[in-house]
Amino acid sequence: MFSSDYEPIGYLNSCYQEKFGIPRQPGLVTAAKSQLTLNDEFNEDSVRGLEGFSHIWLQFVFHKTQKQGWKSMVRPPRLGGNKKVGVFASRSTFRPNPIGLSVVELLRIEVRGSQVILHLLGCDLLNKTPILDIKPYLPYVDAIPDAIGGFAKEKPESLFDVIFTDLAKYQCEQAEARLGEDISLLITQILALDPSPSYQKNTATKLRIYRMKLYDFDLSWQYCENNKIKVLAIDS
Ligand code: SAH
Repeated sequence: MFSSDYEPIGYLNSCYQEKFGIPRQPGLVTAAKSQLTLNDEFNEDSVRGLEGFSHIWLQFVFHKTQKQGWKSMVRPPRLGGNKKVGVFASRSTFRPNPIGLSVVELLRIEVRGSQVILHLLGCDLLNKTPILDIKPYLPYVDAIPDAIGGFAKEKPESLFDVIFTDLAKYQCEQAEARLGEDISLLITQILALDPSPSYQKNTATKLRIYRMKLYDFDLSWQYCENNKIKVLAIDS
């Protein structure tokens, strides 16, 4: 019999604390580390053999937006936010079944007592995202080099140079010491992709200060002339 009541197999621990600013696909921000802790019922046996794969597929719930429903047409950021395509022609989070699919790098599998933790790179997922399933990425079937990419043929370009104020540089060093991660690289990769909504491009609103939450800090930045983004502060 068909049942649609699926329980997550675990939850993701990610540096992204809110939806705004998360890259729009996996693999774009390679400095983003995350950990997937499997629920207690899954021990070492459930991942035996997975360590031989460099990448895995994650199926997950868009839990933060699932209550907002869906529309049959959406405006992908790739088309500048002013052209519509069908929901099934998009990777929008607002879907009839709010299920996402991301391919991510598997760094290592840690077994801590009876707990299994997968260390991952390059996720495009919010902290605490419920994960429904893991499957190994099979290059011979999943990578199709001559496939045609519709309206999203190329990897999005990094259009911005990211610069740090002295204050931000200092705060960044503090965050790196506290968290043991390359925070300046993480911030540079995220902002170079330009998280601001496409409808705000080239308008006066670009002069405002933007903010997002990463790990335990608030990041703020501003757009400057000559395609520069200035990191203003990293406040704990
Ligand atoms: N690679 C996936 C997701 C693409 S959409 C797929 O194609 O299905 C990626 C966006 O989903 C991110 O930019 C972020 O804004 C949003 N997102 C990530 N995790 C989410 C969650 N748990 N709930 C709602 N939105 C989420």
